[in-house]
Amino acid sequence: MTVHLSNTSLFRKDAFINGTWCPAAGGARRPLHNPATGAVVAEVAECGAPDVDHAIAAAVTAQAEWRNRTGAQLQVILTRWHDLVMDNVDDLATLIVTEQGKPRAEAAGEIRYAASFLLWFAAEAMRAYGDVIPPTNPATRLSVIRQPVGVCAAITPWNFPAAMITRKAGPALAAGCAMIVKPSEDTPLTALALAELARQAGVPAGLLQVLPGDGVTLGKALCASPDIRKLSFTGSTQVGRILMAQSAATLKRLSLELGGNAPFIVFDDAHIEQAIKSAIAAKYRNAGQTCVCANRILVQDSIYDEFATRFARVVEKLQVGPGSDPDSVIGPLISAKARDKVEEHVNDAVSHGAIIMCGGARDNAGELFYRPTVLRDATPAMRIAHEETFGPVAPLFRFHTEAEAIAMANDTEYGLAAYFFTRDHARAHRVAEALEYGMVGHNTGLISNEVAPFGGIKQSGMGREGSRYGMDEYMEMKYICTDITDHTA
Ligand code: ADP
Repeated sequence: MTVHLSNTSLFRKDAFINGTWCPAAGGARRPLHNPATGAVVAEVAECGAPDVDHAIAAAVTAQAEWRNRTGAQLQVILTRWHDLVMDNVDDLATLIVTEQGKPRAEAAGEIRYAASFLLWFAAEAMRAYGDVIPPTNPATRLSVIRQPVGVCAAITPWNFPAAMITRKAGPALAAGCAMIVKPSEDTPLTALALAELARQAGVPAGLLQVLPGDGVTLGKALCASPDIRKLSFTGSTQVGRILMAQSAATLKRLSLELGGNAPFIVFDDAHIEQAIKSAIAAKYRNAGQTCVCANRILVQDSIYDEFATRFARVVEKLQVGPGSDPDSVIGPLISAKARDKVEEHVNDAVSHGAIIMCGGARDNAGELFYRPTVLRDATPAMRIAHEETFGPVAPLFRFHTEAEAIAMANDTEYGLAAYFFTRDHARAHRVAEALEYGMVGHNTGLISNEVAPFGGIKQSGMGREGSRYGMDEYMEMKYICTDITDHTA
């Protein structure tokens, strides 16, 4: 066991059910590997359907009490949770580096980002306003109140082991809901540590529970229960479709944050240096393993060669190595499957005429490391144009006109994030409005924060996380109509 934390209470390998740490009912455990070294980090409880039943029963009880607390009371507890996360940034970052692999500075950044959702939704807990509607009948009074959805479940991915949990649990708890989290099999330790901090912050038993285990098994059990009123999922489009189908029988509310195929468009009037810096951030963060990562870089013909040369010159200097090494900028990929997909995309692109400007091979830092790669002369005939690579590979496509850029950008089933660079004000409006995406970055490659609505359209899913809209996902509207006629008169 190779994780050294200064706060040892954060190293948890059991499930967190009804306020207690417990092994899975069946006693099963799963080895967890460090992707940088392949070493086994921990043997983590592998929950099954009986654990889900146990957790749901506890959540129902806990939520019945929690929903009656005032917004101010919820705010105090969520703020305390935020403060504890911030007090433990280093240890939580260590857990992320160990199980997920991203460089330490990025891991610490993720923890601060994760904490920001708790602080934001702590404040939103006091702002769950309703409406008073002017009536059509003068003898009536119409109002709308907002109430918690009930017991919710979250199925989360490995690429942001902390933020994808707080972005769901924060608004759920703030809205008066209970939340059962099924973290990725690859990153349960961060999830369990967050649960321990929630416990220390005063989140009552049963309100926030974490069940590590297999997605298929736990996903089925969670979907089958009528007591789970809402499911929030972040992960692949393929699994999102399965979960939507499985939720049909119980008509669950759904938030689905699925795959992307983000275009990053550089017009010839862009500030090239700014575009290059932003492309590095939007492409190579987390070794290219984020759903909003630039997947296709579209560059206007007249600046294509200059952009390609200057971009590749920066990319080839990005340091590859384990996230624990302070000099590393590109950590390992999460699994052999992920690395193989990156390799396949590069090989396929090359076989269709792409030219490797840098990278294009595994790195000898370890089994799962792949060198940051730039491919020029990419075309729509390549797999990389249509599939999410989820790795450190930037294919450069060429376009001539604004209309062609927009058509290329929208030529995908996905609609999560898009980026474009131009200094022309009128064009900025035209392009931002024409892009069929839930989020658009204009002259920036970094758009995520707690105050703005994150989410996609088309096959990238439904619902929004963060921002004041994030609370709506966990609240029902109730309309109340009162007849005010005095029948005693
Ligand atoms: P990725 O390909 O990025 O790992 P997935 O969509 O496969 O994304 O995984 C995201 C989360 O979904 C993980 O917590 C995983 O355990 C879970 N998962 C995978 N398959 C299923 C499934 N059939 N039903 C429910 N959850 C699943």
